[in-house]
Amino acid sequence: MADVSIRVCNFGEISTPLNNECAITMNDFETTTSVVELACKHIFEEEAITTWVQRDATCPTCRRAVDLTQIRTQLHLGDRSNSCGYWNIILSIILVINIIVALVFI
Ligand SMILES: [Zn+2]
Repeated sequence: MADVSIRVCNFGEISTPLNNECAITMNDFETTTSVVELACKHIFEEEAITTWVQRDATCPTCRRAVDLTQIRTQLHLGDRSNSCGYWNIILSIILVINIIVALVFI
């Protein structure tokens, strides 16, 4: 069975929920609450877990590793880290300088 483990849905769509409140916000889920069910079956409010996983890629309850690629796909987050973008630009500049240096001195 494929491990399509992370699920984004309304709380009411989960037939046998493992938990009834979000461990991050301590809010009780309503049937219409937009939630994320992780691979470990722990359930969190979508907004809360979205913020959480970008800081710490583990389940807040059981510390099981969260597949960031999968959760980004599920949450449509994309890989939009600004620091990463700047770092790529710096690396590109260094690469260009290296090429120029190589052309001048060889
Ligand atoms: Zn968990």
